[in-house]
Amino acid sequence: MARKPLIAGNWKMNQNHLEAIALVQKIAFALPEKYYAKVDVAVLPPFTDIRSVQTLTDGDKLSLTYGAQDLSPHDSGAYTGDVSGPMLAKLGCSFVTVGHSERREYHGETDELVNKKVKAALKHGIKPILCVGEKLEVREAGEHIAHTTTQLVEGLKGLKAEQVKDVVVAYEPVWAIGTGKVATPSDAEEVCGAIRATLAEKYGAEVASSVRVLYGGSAKANNISDLVACENIDGALVGGASLDGEEFTKLCALA
Ligand code: PEP
Repeated sequence: MARKPLIAGNWKMNQNHLEAIALVQKIAFALPEKYYAKVDVAVLPPFTDIRSVQTLTDGDKLSLTYGAQDLSPHDSGAYTGDVSGPMLAKLGCSFVTVGHSERREYHGETDELVNKKVKAALKHGIKPILCVGEKLEVREAGEHIAHTTTQLVEGLKGLKAEQVKDVVVAYEPVWAIGTGKVATPSDAEEVCGAIRATLAEKYGAEVASSVRVLYGGSAKANNISDLVACENIDGALVGGASLDGEEFTKLCALA
């Protein structure tokens, strides 16, 4: 089954809402509407920017989609500082990253919590981008595939095969995130292929062939083509390079 590539820009904790408007305008000017027939493009700004991004994309009827970087496992209640799936759905979010390594590292997110967040996103019609990937010491120990596929299996626990089709998986080796050390296409493909094989084993070949598996970790315009040329890599989750409108749209055009 042909999978439409997805390039998602994870802005992390960057860009206030005015800067967000300027960046989305740059992307909108640089990518013609016909481009989106080939590739899906999403931006994932901080929560405080989402309303501004929505207003722009709705007003100009852009095909650019957007989402959030996290969500609560709960729908509402006494969870100070959290933002829920229903709130993000109301803002028109198409995607939400779940289990990013920075959330796992700085907020102690476990596979169990990540699994609850994946379910919360799906419950409200938002596609979770489930982030998985190993730290350097795990790779050096030769455990990267077992580690990453375990995160995948735990993150998807309890989902029906039909639901898994709406999940996007992002393989993000932690040692490649924000370091400028991109994985080689063959290293990235090895793990993305193992992710798809695990999906096939658990949910069947049809589901496995429809799930988009992204690569993330220092992806840039000068390395994206070789990554997306790999059989099991269907696009990228882009951090640093998504903050520069010119670099990001160049990367998208090459994906
Ligand atoms: C990320 O944060 O998901 C990421 C891939 O970052 P970078 O592209 O900057 O490595």
